Amino acid sequence: MTVPMETLNPAIVDIGPEGLSVSCTVTGAQLGLSESEDKFEGPLQIHVELEKQDGPIAVTGTLEGTAIRQCVRCLVDYADPLYVSLYAEYLPQTGVTAKPAVAEQGRKKAKRAAQPVEPIEEADEEDELYWFQGDHLDLAPMLREQVILAAPMQPVCREECLGLCSQCGQNLNERRCGCPPEQAPSPFRVLRGRQSKGGNA
Ligand SMILES: [Zn+2]
Ligand SMILES: [Zn+2]
Repeated sequence: MTVPMETLNPAIVDIGPEGLSVSCTVTGAQLGLSESEDKFEGPLQIHVELEKQDGPIAVTGTLEGTAIRQCVRCLVDYADPLYVSLYAEYLPQTGVTAKPAVAEQGRKKAKRAAQPVEPIEEADEEDELYWFQGDHLDLAPMLREQVILAAPMQPVCREECLGLCSQCGQNLNERRCGCPPEQAPSPFRVLRGRQSKGGNA
């Protein structure tokens, strides 16, 4: 049994025939996340296995933590458990002439250009591809991307969140307000509401 390494920059020589385990705890800042993306409760737990065969170095594992997100309905911050399955491949970046994957991508793109109707299907594969220089891998850029990709476009604190009253702004999860119930949304109703508010002001 080997003790997992605690580093975001594992050395390639440490990847033995049976692979290499890396476990560490990091902050969003350590992954290079911007201030608006770096919203977590406590650190992020990273567990990855590195495997080196003839081709690229394969990285598989998990990233766990608790993200703080703002609900788009009620605008309240809530804790969102984060669990991301990781898969990436690292290729050596040895110089301008030795970039087989880039050359291959170029060929694929050329083919695609000749047939403009062909749907783009290889985006995922290319997303998993990273480069390393020298004798260490840098896991941070890959982990940063995975954290960003894991963020929902429309975060909601819970499925049944009632949101805010469109008339008085009351958080309807906390209590009901006295506003008349909304019927089916109609542009005329919204317009009337705006006009009456404007008149009172
Ligand atoms: Zn909510
Ligand atoms: Zn209301």
